Parts: sequence; structure tokens; C-alpha cells
Amino acid sequence: MRTRIVIIGGGPAGNTCATTAARLGAEVVLIERDTIGGAAHLWDCIPSKAMIATGNARSFLRRSVRMGLSEVESDVDLVQLRERLRAIETRLEGSVRSLLTSQRVELIDGTGHLVGPRTVVATTADGERTLDADIIVLATGSRPRIPDWVEVDGDRILSTRDAYPPSSVPSHAIVVGSGVTGVEFVHMFESMGAEVTLVVSRQHVLPQKDAEVAAALEEDFLRRGVRLFKGARATKMERIGDEVVVSCDDGRVATGSHALLAIGSIPNSDQLGLESAGVVTEGGYVPVDDQLRSNIAHIYAAGDLSGRLPLSSVASMQGRKIAEHAMGAYSHRQERQIDYDKAASAIFTEPEIADVGLAETDAFSEGRKVRVTKVPFSSHAKALINDDPRGFVKIVSDPATGVVLGGSIVGRHAAELISILAIAVTNGLTVTDIHESLLVHPTLAEALAEAAE
Ligand SMILES: Cc1cc2nc3c(=O)[nH]c(=O)nc-3n(C[C@H](O)[C@H](O)[C@H](O)COP(=O)(O)OP(=O)(O)OC[C@H]3O[C@@H](n4cnc5c(N)ncnc54)[C@H](O)[C@@H]3O)c2cc1C
Repeated sequence: MRTRIVIIGGGPAGNTCATTAARLGAEVVLIERDTIGGAAHLWDCIPSKAMIATGNARSFLRRSVRMGLSEVESDVDLVQLRERLRAIETRLEGSVRSLLTSQRVELIDGTGHLVGPRTVVATTADGERTLDADIIVLATGSRPRIPDWVEVDGDRILSTRDAYPPSSVPSHAIVVGSGVTGVEFVHMFESMGAEVTLVVSRQHVLPQKDAEVAAALEEDFLRRGVRLFKGARATKMERIGDEVVVSCDDGRVATGSHALLAIGSIPNSDQLGLESAGVVTEGGYVPVDDQLRSNIAHIYAAGDLSGRLPLSSVASMQGRKIAEHAMGAYSHRQERQIDYDKAASAIFTEPEIADVGLAETDAFSEGRKVRVTKVPFSSHAKALINDDPRGFVKIVSDPATGVVLGGSIVGRHAAELISILAIAVTNGLTVTDIHESLLVHPTLAEALAEAAE
């Protein structure tokens, strides 16, 4: 008999798990209440990067005079932008859907919940369906955290889900939250022509990142006229006519046309019936072991719900690993567990920021002996050709063996370039391996080879 796997949630975690498990011979049912592709396609990774691309194109046009073109001014057309976002989402949903159906995954448009350790009920427009399962995968993601002192109206007071695009172009956007999502929205709004104020609860933006990298971003924001309210916590957000007033605990007040909250997310674990199966949660997340099993061995959790690293790339990898583990795909080869410390991540500001593995700041605070080499893009041909010499490459390596332990890149295409370091970090390559590689000239990647010297 084939293993029957029921997956709740069709985001990167759920849909990758479904296709992999089906390919490995499982009978798979995937329940999704909204859009196949998940929040990642509908509200998070894709629309945010598509809007950032529009803002970047506008900034690029404005700078193009320095590259020998006549001056071009361009305003954002919200109707066209909305159509563009919709077109990208439809196209991506179509391709994920066709991949799932080509693997004979049964898709149910509905809401799933557990009613017992091996039973899931899907509530659809046609009624309820009860599904028995050998394996259950919970991949229901997360949603924006909205504190009780704010009433999001979706028009001027926005969560990250109301911003693609907002109903009007902000003239002055106040962004609350200076983590990855917050700073991406600062960049997005500013590049679309808005004045921006950023409320930063700590003394620096991106408190989790390498200090030098965060400082480079702050410097760029200040150069672009972004106002930073450092060390301030927003405590009140009110709409007064067409204005939004944000008050902070230190007495500062910002008044703008729009305010956006980017202060984290909460897991979608309520109303999943977890108690009926005895699945334990912690702060709403489902804690998992290295194989991504919950406390109930045949119930796995993946993606944001697992409370591990909330990235789409991680969610997909977790989904794949669950399918392989559940289907016993490791019987003939070595299982490789996910090493979350080696996940590459990026911030799609301009310049882009990307990092992987051990950060210089962390190495020093842990008292680890490391070699750090840094090369600025300003001396590189391609950066000058691109008229964008901002940023640098930094590689952290083991001084004894040369093994690459981590790195950070600030600059154009950093999110693409970090892949080279990610492959090195994951596979234990050395700086010599990178330095000895024959790269294309002129490219920004040459700065990596130089930093690896
Ligand atoms: C603004 C923003 C930008 C981001 N940008 C990036 C980025 O550039 N790169 C990156 O790697 N990560 C990014 N992330 C993080 C990324 O979006 C998440 O880590 C990723 O979506 C998690 O995938 P998931 O499969 O766990 O959940 P989701 O993508 O949230 O999918 C979960 C799915 O489950 C469905 N669901 C929930 N409950 C039920 C139920 N009971 N029954 C049926 N269906 C249900 C939901 O409708 C949803 O479709 C971003 C996040 C935000 C907020």
C-alpha cells in the first residue's frame, strides 16, 4: 500500500513537500485555503521584490543621466503596478499548480484541521471531507503581528499584506520596525518617491546583522533623506483625516500619509485542531526535531510554523527533507540535515545586502579566531561600469585551514553573488578554491575572488 500523506498549507514548505513525496511514490493530498504558492507568492517574497524592482527601475532612470542618457522622470502608475503584481502571481501559481498536478498530487481548495492523530478534515465550499493519513504535514505559515494598540485599516495604516501596492502612492511613509522587512519597505517607498521615517526600537537598524553591514545601510538611508527615529518604540498610531500620526514612547511624533507595521509575525497554528492529536506548541509554533517531526512522530511541521528560520528557501528545503524522511529516501545514502546557520539570506535594499554563515561581529563576540578579508567594489571595473561603486565583499575564514566560514556582501546583485559563498560554506570549500576559480571579467564576482586571495 502507498504511504498516504496529507499536507495542510500550500506555501513553499507544503508544495515542495507534496511534489517531492509524490515523486517518491506517496499518495499525496494538499489542502490550501487561499493560493497555491502561499503567502510567499501572494504577500511576502514575490510582490515585495516585484515592487522593489519597480522602485529600482525608477531610481535607475533618474540616475541614468550620469551614464550618458538624457534625464528621465517617471512616476509610479499604481494601476499598471497592480496588474504587474497580479500577472506575476498568476503565472507563478499556475506553474506550481501544474507541477503538483503533473505529480498527481490531489489539491483540495479548503481549510484543513486535525480531528485526531491520523485524521484531517478539509472544509470546502461543497462541505467537509474526512481524510485518513499515515503522515500529516503542517505547513500553514504565519501572518503579520498586529499589536492591540493599532487598528490596521488597509488604506493608510497598513500591515505588510496591504502594501502591494497601497491604494495610493505614499507622500510620506512611516515604517515601524527596522528588521529585514522594515528596511525593505523603507527602500521600496523611498525609491517610489515617498519621504520616509523609520521608527527603530534599537540604536541601529538590522540588529541581527553584521554591524558594518547595518552601518552601510543606515548611511545610505541618511544620504537618501530617510529620517531615523532611533531608540524609539511606537506606542500609538492614529488616522486623522488623510494623515497618520505615529507617537513614540520617547515623546517623538511622526506625521505622514501612510504608516506600515513590520514588527514580525505570528504562526498560523490556532484553529488547526492540534490538541486533538496531542501536538505540542511553544508560543504558537510547533517545535520539531532534526527530522522536522513534532512530538507526535508521524506529524511533521515545516516552514514558518516550525519556528526555525522564517525564509521561503528554508521552508522549501524543510518540505523536501520531510518528504525524503517520511518516504525513507535516505536508506541508500547519507542523510544531510539542514544546517540553519549556513542559510544564505538577503535584504533587497539598494545597495542589496546578503550574508551567509558566520558574521565577523559574531566571531568576535564569541572570541573565535578568524581571518577577515574585505574588498570594496569601488576599485572594481564592473562596479564602475554599472555606475554603482557602493559596497564591499567580506569573507570570514578559518586562519588555519582557509575554510570559508561565512561572508557578507553589500552592493548591487549581492543577493545573487552570495550564492558563491553559500556553496563554499555549505561544502567546506576554502578561500583558495574560490581564488583559483576562473571567473568572467568584468564581473562583480571578481571582488569575491580578490577577497579570497
Ligand atoms: C514582507 C515579507 C517579505 C518576505 N520576503 C522573503 C524573501 O524575499 N525571501 C525569503 O526567503 N523569505 C521571505 N519572506 C519569508 C517567507 O515569506 C516565509 O518564510 C515563507 O512564506 C514561509 O513559507 P511557508 O510555506 O511556511 O508558509 P506560507 O508561504 O505562509 O504558506 C502557508 C500557506 O498555508 C495556508 N494555510 C494556513 N492555514 C491553513 C489551513 N488551516 N488550511 C489550509 N491552508 C492553510 C495559507 O493560506 C498559506 O497559503 C518574507 C516575509 C515577509 C513578511
